[in-house]
Amino acid sequence: MTIEQHKTKRLTQHAVFDVVVLGGGAAGLFAAFTAAQRGRSVVVLERANKIGKKILMSGGGRCNFTNLYIEAQNFLSANQHFCKSALSQYTQWDFIDLMQRHGLEYEERKHGQLFCLHSAKDLLAILEEECALAGVTVRTRCDVQDVESFDRDQRGEVVSSDYAFHSSPDSKSSISDAKRARYSVHCIENEIGKRYQCESVIIATGALSVPTLGGSDRGYHLAQAFGLPLVDRSAGLVPFMFSDTTLALCNALSGCSVSVEARCGSTVFSEDMLFTHRGLSGPAILQISNYWHPGETLTIDLLPALDAEDYLIERKSESPKQKVRSVLTQHLPKALVTELEKRWWPEFAERPLAECNDAALRSLGQRLNDWQLKPSATEGYRTAEVTLGGVATSAISSKTMEANEHPGLYFIGEVVDVTGHLGGFNFQWAWSSGFVAGVNA
Ligand SMILES: Cc1cc2nc3c(=O)[nH]c(=O)nc-3n(C[C@H](O)[C@H](O)[C@H](O)COP(=O)(O)OP(=O)(O)OC[C@H]3O[C@@H](n4cnc5c(N)ncnc54)[C@H](O)[C@@H]3O)c2cc1C
Repeated sequence: MTIEQHKTKRLTQHAVFDVVVLGGGAAGLFAAFTAAQRGRSVVVLERANKIGKKILMSGGGRCNFTNLYIEAQNFLSANQHFCKSALSQYTQWDFIDLMQRHGLEYEERKHGQLFCLHSAKDLLAILEEECALAGVTVRTRCDVQDVESFDRDQRGEVVSSDYAFHSSPDSKSSISDAKRARYSVHCIENEIGKRYQCESVIIATGALSVPTLGGSDRGYHLAQAFGLPLVDRSAGLVPFMFSDTTLALCNALSGCSVSVEARCGSTVFSEDMLFTHRGLSGPAILQISNYWHPGETLTIDLLPALDAEDYLIERKSESPKQKVRSVLTQHLPKALVTELEKRWWPEFAERPLAECNDAALRSLGQRLNDWQLKPSATEGYRTAEVTLGGVATSAISSKTMEANEHPGLYFIGEVVDVTGHLGGFNFQWAWSSGFVAGVNA
């Protein structure tokens, strides 16, 4: 290698930007163009071969991008109030307005959930356009390894001499900007080690859910390296698995959906439940999974609109010749009644109601309204839509998303201990927290 080539290589291994965003997902992209619109030079470093993979796969390919009814009670966090500031600084109406300005076609589904009418690709294209218009540099196949802060003396001069500042063809900032650099981000880009120096770092590397879509623990390690505490993490919005007799029932009913009330402790969700070959899924189950801890019992009301005990006794007096299965199929899918009959009332399956004693009918009714289940586990991060827990909000400013003890270091999106319910809440948290970091970084 000639001296000139060597010099060029050394230079391109360092780049200087005002803001380096780690992770090109929903939160990172939003923060990036928001900061760039303020005139900040911004680079997004994304490990995958393309940005926004989760956006593309979300909502069955249509991305449930927000919800009309965003409230703090739709979020779980050790500090229930933390999310309020960001959600009010950038609301669902702001995001809807942005989408409308770009002509995105969308539809409202039940519970105020907004989905792209055609494809999540349309929404990602808007974020990419905003980034391009604002002049954001995007680097893919760039795996962030660590972030170091420069120690500065009282005059603001760098004390640590580990890293010299270099401007490179990549850099959007001048040497004088480099002198303001507080952080050095080390990554492996296309198999070559590279350092990005910057004034602000926004950590938006997401969480552990679905490793094939970018799930990563990098953000937690970076937080710990800077001394920020973590709240215990677990899989959220995730299906349940069973190892007892429930498994065979679920297997036999795989694909069958029923409207239920799912309860865990004092939390209840009224939604659809889906039987799968592994256990239970569907919106009611995903929602309640956020509140379930290993070993706990889950209660399912299969007939939430009825007092099933009274209903069966009433049917006995009004239609004594009917069988239990006929009166239940008026309210439940036939396949479910057939499978439950084999397990719950085989001894009087073929008898008319008149010949079933009241106590047995009452006991069956009670079970239908109060079916107790003990999941063996959740399906875990492989299929979980979100990760509960994360970087403790006590270490971050809710107004700016900046780490309290580290000026210029921001955490946003799912890496933070804020998790939304199913229904567009998690993306709204990504947009809102991304916006807040973008206007401050
Ligand atoms: C299948 C599925 C469907 C979902 N559907 C919905 C929905 O319809 N509505 C909703 O509100 N929420 C939905 N969610 C949740 C939502 O996708 C997340 O809450 C949201 O994407 C979080 O945004 P984020 O930017 O914090 O993280 P992510 O979107 O996960 O982005 C993080 C990015 O960081 C990158 N990264 C990780 N480590 C590194 C590293 N070391 N170096 C560089 N880059 C790195 C990742 O590759 C990724 O691109 C869904 C989730 C899944 C898994």
